[in-house]
Amino acid sequence: MKTLEQKIVEYKSRVPSVIENEPMAKHTSFRIGGPARMYVVAVSSDALIEAVRVAQDLEIPFYVFGGGSNLLVADEGFEGVVIQAANRGFVIEHDRVQVESGMITVLAARKTVDAGLTGFEWAVGVPGTIGGALYGNAGCYGGEMKDNVSFVDAYRLKDGVRIRLSNAECQYGYRDSLFKREPHVILGCELKLIHSSVIPAEDFGERHSAELSRSLSRTAGIHPTAPFDQILRARKESQPLDQSSAGCVFKNFDFTDESQLDILRRYVNQIPEAMLRVKRLSAGWLVEQAGMKGQRIGDVQVSDKHGNFFLNRGHARAQDVIALISLVKMNVRDKLGIELQEEVQYLSLS
Ligand SMILES: Cc1cc2nc3c(=O)[nH]c(=O)nc-3n(C[C@H](O)[C@H](O)[C@H](O)COP(=O)(O)OP(=O)(O)OC[C@H]3O[C@@H](n4cnc5c(N)ncnc54)[C@H](O)[C@@H]3O)c2cc1C
Repeated sequence: MKTLEQKIVEYKSRVPSVIENEPMAKHTSFRIGGPARMYVVAVSSDALIEAVRVAQDLEIPFYVFGGGSNLLVADEGFEGVVIQAANRGFVIEHDRVQVESGMITVLAARKTVDAGLTGFEWAVGVPGTIGGALYGNAGCYGGEMKDNVSFVDAYRLKDGVRIRLSNAECQYGYRDSLFKREPHVILGCELKLIHSSVIPAEDFGERHSAELSRSLSRTAGIHPTAPFDQILRARKESQPLDQSSAGCVFKNFDFTDESQLDILRRYVNQIPEAMLRVKRLSAGWLVEQAGMKGQRIGDVQVSDKHGNFFLNRGHARAQDVIALISLVKMNVRDKLGIELQEEVQYLSLS
């Protein structure tokens, strides 16, 4: 039986450019996280698969991530290999875009518009990579990955097979996908967009599904194909973008039956009509109603601007984030009768 140190020596001999004891705080938008025992930047899909295969072969724990913009890493770090997907291939053929998982989402959105395509404008304010966006079905202003993706290429970890999954096979839901339930390394996808020569941007929404119209109504009037400056201005007005965070900590709360809101109604005077209409309560609004805006533990604080953003005020630790998440969840549950669920992903934490 080999020790971890022996396995690390072997891993380094088989995978080029391993960095040892790399602080994960350098690679997360929260600026939190202890060292990865080994860190690999995979600049192609083949390199990504190889870095994973060798770890599997040597039975070394591994973790694949992209931009670290929805990730909280333990202060103790990770005793294994963290693999950053930096495969950034991007090819446009008429209205179809082949994009690898390490591509920066914001850049992908900009390039699609430069090429005269419409449909992916909403993503211009979403940090991180296409891989992370596919994993969590990222979205905003009524747009979601599931509306744009025709298929996803992945490496299935249970049998080591490269597969192509149709949109339906990805089982997309609100901030949810197959990838959250069955481990895959996401390699890339095809986005199916609309050429603006075929359809004027202002008509785009008309052609979308009922589901998109439903989500549109909850998004303060910003269209998923609005001009970049409009999208970016709206985000700047509502989110604390000048400070370190991991975006939204909690998922919004979907309800099926208004009886689930009985306790909440006793506590708040009025639930906004737009939220009732789409049966989705904004988590930031719930945090605010529970009086948790501005709450602080150590150097982590719930933003005064947006109740679903937790800010690193300087030297925040993951354990303080976890404590603040527990405190906020407890208050929302006890005061408002609603159980919030985390959107942020954990590494070496539970
Ligand atoms: C200021 C700010 C604003 C944000 N606004 C939004 C928003 O409007 N809408 C929204 O949806 N999100 C938002 N987010 C959250 C975040 O940007 C998205 O979730 C983003 O898509 C995550 O991408 P990433 O590459 O950074 O993922 P990471 O944080 O690197 O990883 C997130 C998860 O995806 C997995 N993952 C990443 N890449 C791969 C891969 N190649 N294969 C397998 N698994 C992978 C990781 O293992 C992890 O579980 C915001 C974040 C910040 C900091």
